This record gives sequence, structure tokens and C-alpha cells, in this order.
Amino acid sequence: MKTANTIKEVRAIVKEWRASGLSVGLVPTMGFLHEGHASLIKRAHEENDRVVVSDFVNPTQFGPNEDLESYPRDFDRDCKLCEEMGADLVFHPDPSEMYHDQHTYVTIDTLSETLCGVTRPIHFRGVCTVVSKLFNIVTPDRAYFGEKDAQQLAIIRKMVLDLNFDIEIVGCPIIREEDGLAKSSRNTYLSAEERKAALCLSRAVKKGQEVISAGCDSSVVLDSMKDIINAEPLAKIDYVSVVDALDMQPVEKIEKDVLVAMAVYIGKTRLIDNFSYKIK
Ligand code: AMP
Repeated sequence: MKTANTIKEVRAIVKEWRASGLSVGLVPTMGFLHEGHASLIKRAHEENDRVVVSDFVNPTQFGPNEDLESYPRDFDRDCKLCEEMGADLVFHPDPSEMYHDQHTYVTIDTLSETLCGVTRPIHFRGVCTVVSKLFNIVTPDRAYFGEKDAQQLAIIRKMVLDLNFDIEIVGCPIIREEDGLAKSSRNTYLSAEERKAALCLSRAVKKGQEVISAGCDSSVVLDSMKDIINAEPLAKIDYVSVVDALDMQPVEKIEKDVLVAMAVYIGKTRLIDNFSYKIK
């Protein structure tokens, strides 16, 4: 497995692969990898001749008071996991390599204005911009994203359609801890007490799935989920919403495929979780 810090190196390596007729999968990450990321890399390895993992804490997707500085990093450990999962190249640029004097950004309306976009108004602009740059640098055949970040996945799918990127977007299921907590690099912020409290998210997901399967409207689903979270003293709801699976706009009557998503503060740590519900 190779590592590269510069765009030039990545382009040269991918060019050689292409010359040999090899297909390329890309897994964009912010590093501090766990089994969630590993599942994406493994899938990319199964479906492509070569796999590139980007390991880059992208500054443009963090707001002014967010955790850019404290975001956990461990590049050596990340490289070991990438190699084990079958990655061929890890791209680990400095912020200065990715952004010199950036005046061009990729924004997406409507889909970015609900759910996480309310509390994090510049987040998806940063995500769309860095993912577009990675797509142009790596020129993958396929790119892999987790359903854990379901709004991000919907936004990337729409961006790829709208901007005619010739890239297949592959969504991968949420990987959870044994007790249900969705794996996240940010789980390391949690104290032992908060770690227990954080289980209210996955409990709310379970409850929501039961209530929605019984044919209830969104308001009933949401109330049942909020009751569980509000019963946890360390938890504070940012949002719990039912939205259309494609345009991320709120829906009341569940007559089409929806995403049920939430963000909850456990102490100072903001965690997300979700489930999708398809109409049969
Ligand atoms: P991040 O490093 O948090 O930006 O995540 C990089 C990619 O890994 C994104 O596509 C995430 O959705 C995905 N991912 C993160 N956590 C999980 C998880 N628990 N299960 C599946 N995918 C995940």
C-alpha cells in the first residue's frame, strides 16, 4: 500500500492504473478510522481493482465554533487499517495542498437546508467542495459513503447527478457497536457516563422503526423517539425529523420513502443517527 501527500502523486499513480485498464474505487474519510470506515474500504476492495482512501480533516466543512482543532487524528493507525482492508493508496494531504486561495465552492440548495444544515449552515458546502475536488483528483469509477451520514449521502447523489460526474455512488449500511451505538470518530469524546447516555439514540431508532412499521404518521413516530431521548438527562435534542428520502424536506404522512434522522447533544458531543423507511 502506498501513501501520498500531494495531488500530483495521486494523479500519477491513478494514471498508471488507468493505463493498465484497472478500475478505481474512492473512500473519502476524515481519518481516525473505525469499523464503519473499514466496511466501506472492504466493499470498495471487493468491487474495484484499486482502492484509494482519502484521510483528510476537511477544514471547510467545520463551522467557527466546531471541533476542527480537537478532531481526533492517528494517521499511523489509519494506515494499518487501510492496508488490512485492502486499500492500495492513502491520500493524506495537508490543508494547504487542498486549499491555496479557494474562491470556488460547490453549494447545493434545498437538501442542505434541513436537518444538519440548520445547525451547521456551511457544512454541506464544505463537503460538496472537498468531495468534488477528490472526484477530480482521483477520477474514481465508484465512491463509497456511509448511510450513517444519510443527508450527506443524499446530497452527494444529487450533486453527482446535477454536475454530471461519471461516478457511481455506493451507499453502505451503518456499522454499530454491539450495544447499538453507531460507530463514529466522535464517540471518543464521550466520558463513560456519556457513552451510556448515548445509547438513547439507537434506542430511539429502534422505537421509531417499530412505530413507523405500525403505519403511524410522522408526528407519532417523532413523539415516540423524542420521549426516549428526553428521558435521558445528559441528552439534548438538536433535531429529530422525518424527511423525504430524496429532497430532505419534512413529511407528515408517510406515503413515500423517508429518512428518519436525528442529531442529539450528549454533553458537548453532537451525535447523529438515522434509519430509512421504504414504502412497500
Ligand atoms: P468521516 O470520516 O466521519 O467523514 O466518515 C467517512 C465515511 O465513513 C462517510 O461516508 C461516513 O458516512 C462513513 N461512516 C462513518 N461512520 C460510519 C458507520 N458507523 N457506519 C458506516 N459508515 C460510516
